[in-house]
Amino acid sequence: MSELDGIKSASGDYYKWALEARKKYLLMLQQTDETIAELYIASINRIIQEFKRGKNKNLKYLLEAIAKDVDKFNEDLAKVIKSVVEDGAENGMYFTKQVSTDVLKKAGVDIVPFIKSMEFNRKRAVQISFARSHKDGLKLSERIWNVGQHNKKIMSDIVRAGTGEDVVTVARSLESYVKKGKTSISANYPNMMKRMGSRIPANLDYNALRLARTELTAAYGEGVLASAKATPVVKYVKWVISSSHPRKDICDTNATGGPNGNGIYEAMSCPIYPAHPNCICTLQPAPENTTVVVDKLKAWLKNPQSQPEIEEWYQTHYKMFE
Ligand SMILES: [Zn+2]
Repeated sequence: MSELDGIKSASGDYYKWALEARKKYLLMLQQTDETIAELYIASINRIIQEFKRGKNKNLKYLLEAIAKDVDKFNEDLAKVIKSVVEDGAENGMYFTKQVSTDVLKKAGVDIVPFIKSMEFNRKRAVQISFARSHKDGLKLSERIWNVGQHNKKIMSDIVRAGTGEDVVTVARSLESYVKKGKTSISANYPNMMKRMGSRIPANLDYNALRLARTELTAAYGEGVLASAKATPVVKYVKWVISSSHPRKDICDTNATGGPNGNGIYEAMSCPIYPAHPNCICTLQPAPENTTVVVDKLKAWLKNPQSQPEIEEWYQTHYKMFE
């Protein structure tokens, strides 16, 4: 099943909103990549400027400029990740919020408390994203810090590999590496490259990109699950495998798992999403038959005790926002 067919089969009549959310997610993914690339350019520009300002334009001073920039870089990266997480959570809630609002309106239920409940859950999804520790036990703030440390180490390695070379050449090769990647230094500064060999990653921003993409996706997932738990309209989510998935992995298993083997899970028992870094599979909320839900809501308005499920939702997620 293609990605779009997967999204379509789960979202049914509400396909339009599902597609809107997915498009927005893909756009955010692309913008995040661009923003991260800009952070690296800004960082190396600051380092080079600082180096040029220095009285002693030597390798030691260049190393100091690199070390000095880590805090500013981390601060900028943390800001980007924070907005990525906020936007991701909101994006994850979008579909369910739209469908639920539509259904509640049709049933004649006031949507204002529901919207407040969604906002409350969005904030929680953001908090969960920040509090979550990964397989390796690291929290998000520690991952951000690690990216900064990694940058510093690699850039310092490059500078040290330039010992004996003209320092301006070294600074230029460092700038070229950060902006254009490893291939640019191997072409222009072959001697330095020989000394560094395989220790230098192809692109310095790889770790930051991976972190930001993964956090965007994870926050999307938190948003999907948080909104599904707080509405009577969505109980199930479908794991839809991304059409750009390179090879078979756990995502294929998840997309064909669940009680019916079609990747549809109760929101409560969905596998951990994303399944791996850089995973761009999606969790598509699969609404209930909304005509039935509208009828249930109408019956509940007349007699709350006649609809225990709706009444439970009201007590847990709606009442406190009235
Ligand atoms: Zn995946």
